[in-house]
Amino acid sequence: MKKVFIYKNDVPRTVAIADTLVNKLMISGVDITEEIGDADLIICVGGDGTLLNLMQNHEFPTVPVAGINTGHLGFFQEIAPEKIDEFIKTYISGDLTVQPYNIAKADIKFEDGGEIAYRALNEFVIRGQGTHPVHLNISINTSFIERFSGDGIIISTPAGSTAYNYSLGGALVDPRLNLLQVAPMAPMNNTAYRSLTSSILLPANDSLIIEPCDEQSSSLSILFDGQDETFSGIKSIELCLSKRKINLVRFGGTTFWDKVKTKFL
Ligand code: NAP
Repeated sequence: MKKVFIYKNDVPRTVAIADTLVNKLMISGVDITEEIGDADLIICVGGDGTLLNLMQNHEFPTVPVAGINTGHLGFFQEIAPEKIDEFIKTYISGDLTVQPYNIAKADIKFEDGGEIAYRALNEFVIRGQGTHPVHLNISINTSFIERFSGDGIIISTPAGSTAYNYSLGGALVDPRLNLLQVAPMAPMNNTAYRSLTSSILLPANDSLIIEPCDEQSSSLSILFDGQDETFSGIKSIELCLSKRKINLVRFGGTTFWDKVKTKFL
């Protein structure tokens, strides 16, 4: 029997649409499970922010996720609430199309020997605290590239290229490409400081290593998909694509560039 786990935000319109969805699924003979690990499909009701929360709160499940859009933009959340009947029919007939999406991973090492790891579907933002610029040594694998000075660095997956990355002037990237985009945030570029002013692209197996250049820059804010943590005593941060991919249900036959056109132009 097909088993679905429903994840939703608590906005009244979302809750009403999720209730309708549950009724329709049950009438169609689909079981609703409270255990995400038992589901063969996760349905996320909300906006793109809700999908990001689902991923962060449930350790980036690899089970297919279908997004019913009740948010503003709905770049990930492809299914319009009016299409719920059509979607359920396609699910029951076993004809859903799934697309894998890369996620990024950050391993943070501290001066005292501690370590912590995070994952992100959209991006990591590494930036200083308050209004102080940060000074960071940037390497790709074992090659030192530059000493970056400025507000910070944003490291985006292709999926995240249409989010914060785009607002900062980064390139839009088709999610079928396996790469990480590294974009500077307000880079200082003068006779005292020399920083790259454009974004760079890293292939799938490469790592970006960030090392604070001074005491002040070892206290950093790290944002992953909009969630913010502040750390002190950072020795290094290694960022790369995770081996794990998530799987999002594609519905409606639109391409990435159709969505760019509809949502941005
Ligand atoms: P949020 O208000 O839930 O999200 C901000 C906006 O970004 C929403 O309109 C959301 O769409 C949209 N969005 C999220 N992921 C997207 C993607 N991959 N492509 C296109 N649009 C996307 O705020 P939040 O939950 O705190 O933060 C989530 C994301 O907001 C972060 O990962 C970051 O990318 C983005 N953000 C953008 C800026 C900026 O552009 N200046 C600044 C900070 C954060 P929905 O309306 O469908 O939810």
